[in-house]
Amino acid sequence: MTAKIIDGHAVARHVRQECREATEALKRRGVHPGLAVVIVGDNPASQVYVANKIKACEEVGLKSTVHAFAADTSDGEIEACIQRLNADPAVHGILVQLPLPSHFDVRRVLGAISSDKDVDGFHLYNVGGLVVGDNTIFPPCTPFGVQKMLEYENIPVEGQNVVVVGASNIVGKPMALMLMQKDATVCICHAKTRDLAQFTILADILVVAAGKPNLILPQMVRHGAVVIDVGINRLPNGRLVGDVDFEGVRQKASYITPVPGGVGPMTVTMLVHNTVQSASRFAQNAAGL
Ligand code: NAP
Repeated sequence: MTAKIIDGHAVARHVRQECREATEALKRRGVHPGLAVVIVGDNPASQVYVANKIKACEEVGLKSTVHAFAADTSDGEIEACIQRLNADPAVHGILVQLPLPSHFDVRRVLGAISSDKDVDGFHLYNVGGLVVGDNTIFPPCTPFGVQKMLEYENIPVEGQNVVVVGASNIVGKPMALMLMQKDATVCICHAKTRDLAQFTILADILVVAAGKPNLILPQMVRHGAVVIDVGINRLPNGRLVGDVDFEGVRQKASYITPVPGGVGPMTVTMLVHNTVQSASRFAQNAAGL
């Protein structure tokens, strides 16, 4: 068996087209969806990520603004900026680019964002909503992107054995919760899991987000499994790879995502999606619907 490669760019194009149409419809009703991005310091990777987010917004017709601060800015100044954005009716989504410089209390900064505009899904209200299965919250963009990819390929989740490798707050844990809400049987593995292979071999759907190249080898994967590689690792030779031995595992899996070109394009796309969704809710509330 050779796996079908899930083309993240194709799925992202499809979702972005839906977002473009929804944005045009909102504009006709006088609402122009807007995303505000707050960036602190001059981390080069963060600057690239922010530029990609702005580009994705422009592509779909969203209005975006960047609020850039020096690394030595105080918590108070950032929180004051967030409060202004919370109150601004032209802003429907607010994102604080992480990581923040080390003197910041990240939880507190993220907690200052209105949960109604928290399109990254990191506010504790939205995290709690994910736990209890409230479908009005904004799901975090990377696992939401994975869920969209599974839906796009018509891969059933209900009753499937899902193994998530990686238990971070931004990928692994929300991924596990989202697929559990879809009635999968979910197992979460992390760095202290003993004998990872005894879990991964049981997976009908294996989602890997550990940040370790070649962590998942063919003998760890069941024949016919769906393998989603969230990892992004830069090798010493400059090559970008995921966490899965792509060439080996694709001989056993039924579906597999490549790196690059798999989950990556979906993350930014789901940020745009959440922002359009937020604008649409604001429009409905304003109309008293
Ligand atoms: P993270 O915060 O470093 O978390 C990594 C998780 O993997 C932790 O739970 C860790 O376990 C676990 N882990 C590490 N080594 C392991 C091992 N040998 N076996 C099993 N589990 C192991 O990373 P993250 O932010 O979740 O990101 C994970 C990867 O996804 C990174 O490569 C990142 O670049 C990539 N990523 C990609 C996108 C995208 O858009 N494609 C978005 C976000 C992240 P412990 O909890 O025990 O430490």
